[in-house]
Amino acid sequence: MQQNTLRKNIWSILLLLSIIPLVISPVFFHQKLNLTFFSVFLFLDVLIFFYLLKLFNDKASLIQSQIERKEEEINIINVEGRKSREYGGALTFKITRYNNLKKVIESLNRSLKLDTVINVLSRSVYSLISNSRGIALFYLVDNQYQKLKLAYSIKGDSDLVILSKEGDIFDQWVLRHSSPLIIEDLKNDFRFDLDSMRGQAMRLVSSLISSPLISNNSLLGLLRLESEENGSFNQDDLRFLSLVADLGAVALENSLLFQKTQDLAIHDDLTGLFTRHYFVGRLKDEARRCARLNQHLSLLMIDIDFFKQYNDKFGHTAGDIVLKKVGSLLKDALADFNSLLCRFGGEEFLVMLSGLNKQESLEIAQDLRSRIQMENITLRRHDTHITVSIGVASMPIDTKDEDDLVQKADKAMYSAKDRGRNKVCSI
Ligand code: GH3
Ligand code: MG
Ligand code: MG
Repeated sequence: MQQNTLRKNIWSILLLLSIIPLVISPVFFHQKLNLTFFSVFLFLDVLIFFYLLKLFNDKASLIQSQIERKEEEINIINVEGRKSREYGGALTFKITRYNNLKKVIESLNRSLKLDTVINVLSRSVYSLISNSRGIALFYLVDNQYQKLKLAYSIKGDSDLVILSKEGDIFDQWVLRHSSPLIIEDLKNDFRFDLDSMRGQAMRLVSSLISSPLISNNSLLGLLRLESEENGSFNQDDLRFLSLVADLGAVALENSLLFQKTQDLAIHDDLTGLFTRHYFVGRLKDEARRCARLNQHLSLLMIDIDFFKQYNDKFGHTAGDIVLKKVGSLLKDALADFNSLLCRFGGEEFLVMLSGLNKQESLEIAQDLRSRIQMENITLRRHDTHITVSIGVASMPIDTKDEDDLVQKADKAMYSAKDRGRNKVCSI
């Protein structure tokens, strides 16, 4: 536009200049000046014309190049402006994410429960990174066997059934390398042999990110997000997932320690069975539940016969082996029943049988008694044997009070002792 206006102005000036000789020519004729003089005048006029034309052309191209330079500068400023706007947007996105991270940490600090920690971590990355689309999975690592165990899974729009509870080749990769993994397009990722997965019940996965949870050099878990579409995750997403995993690992370690402490508090050191304290608490709840449902509830008090003599003869360590053996035998034998088992005292065990009446419980007690009698306990290549006396009491037939039920089972056990031991008795 500017160029056109300039050209128009140049032409107007030149037109004016070239008109001058035409305007003054009648004067020349009038004064009868000779034609030669007029021709020189016209020649000079033409020279001036071309000189001016060149001058204006030079000026016009100078202005033109200045305009082009300015346009270039405008373009650069526009590009930089766009970049800054994009950078600003990315920065706002990052700030929002990291603000949310603060909330995740606060939620993690609020609970020591393992389930809650796993829930908070999985749900946070699922909503912050995946926008609640696709799938989120949380695996715990069984360090004893170096295996994964699915602890939590989320899928936005439906109930998710994960068939590979021990993880697939991608989870195994993270477990082996102890480092984060990103797959942007599964079909074109040649690190993984997809043929090896053929035949396995597979969900449709096209992209995924996965990060291990490592604390004190030990791999505790694995957090994974996956999508059915290609390129759903980028390096920024992986960095954020790893950050959450690093923070989560500390919380996870604390909750695992807390759970271990809780487990220790309710389990007997020697036999691994529940403690008396825990058992009594559960008995209270179960007695109430059975009463409400009009169900039977029975107790078996089991005491090893002449155990002092056994200790005296074979030593205290041998006695400990016997206690462990009886504990595991009882556990195995009662696995199919709705039962709870505890080490009630030194060489006494207490069994709770929910929903079984007195007669059924007496039969189970007889079975336990004979299994224990037949069990070979090998000590320094010698087979030894023990027997037990068992007392049985049932609710509601013997009593309606759970404390009284324990006493009645104990009393019945003493009757079995009185009748010569290796017996089952009831009140
Ligand atoms: P009874 O047939 O009348 O029950 O005779 P008993 O010898 O089994 O009964 P008593 O109450 O006289 O002795 C119980 C023994 O159990 C005494 C103790 O040395 C032993 N005992 C208790 N706790 C443990 C333990 O943790 N380890 C071992 N090795 N022995 C234990
Ligand atoms: Mg005893
Ligand atoms: Mg005894």
